[in-house]
Amino acid sequence: MKKAVIESAGRAAVIDVPDPEPRQNWVVVEVKVAPMCTEYKGFVSGAGGSNLGHEASGVVAAVAQPGRVQVGDRVVVMPQYPCGRCDLCVSGEYIHCESIVDFSSFTEGGEGRATMAQYLLKHDWLLPVIPEGVSLEHGAMACCGLGPSFGAFEGMGVDAFHTVLITGLGPVGLGAVINARHRGARVLAVDSNPWRAARALELGAEEVFAPGEQVLTELRHRT
Ligand SMILES: [Zn+2]
Ligand SMILES: [Zn+2]
Repeated sequence: MKKAVIESAGRAAVIDVPDPEPRQNWVVVEVKVAPMCTEYKGFVSGAGGSNLGHEASGVVAAVAQPGRVQVGDRVVVMPQYPCGRCDLCVSGEYIHCESIVDFSSFTEGGEGRATMAQYLLKHDWLLPVIPEGVSLEHGAMACCGLGPSFGAFEGMGVDAFHTVLITGLGPVGLGAVINARHRGARVLAVDSNPWRAARALELGAEEVFAPGEQVLTELRHRT
């Protein structure tokens, strides 16, 4: 298969590597969408490395045994390789698992941990099936784009009686605008980038302030 690598600052390439093989409950997913997250900073600095990407959506391509997904399922690919057995994993907080599986020893040095590749390898329980009618592009946003603020707002119980202040309108911040508006909350945001501010307003933010503006004074006048 082919996968993307960063060779040096500002220089990337596509290389050929062996296809991953399914084993136990780890299945092979053909990657269809791989959002760019922290990898861009690695591209700029040259520190990106040879296993790029930690989020994706795709189609299950091969399984080693019957399990939670079948060949052909459209799935979200969740990040990391948590143990699946500790209290954090069992309670759903597997992103904080302290017993991450050693990918290299499990696969005996195999490929498949990058999402910016044609195929990857993942535990079947980290592959939620994308409902019909939801595109692979939107499914891929369930990881870093929409996931962090979805979890936070769920925990905080944000609803139509709340005003949410979102500072920073990168992909995670813009995802927070979507989640807050979906819950009916009023959204105020802060960012100095005009393009990002315009996207936030399109997505339903009431106001976007640039850092340094007299935000508190303005808000006091309004209320
Ligand atoms: Zn765990
Ligand atoms: Zn990410």
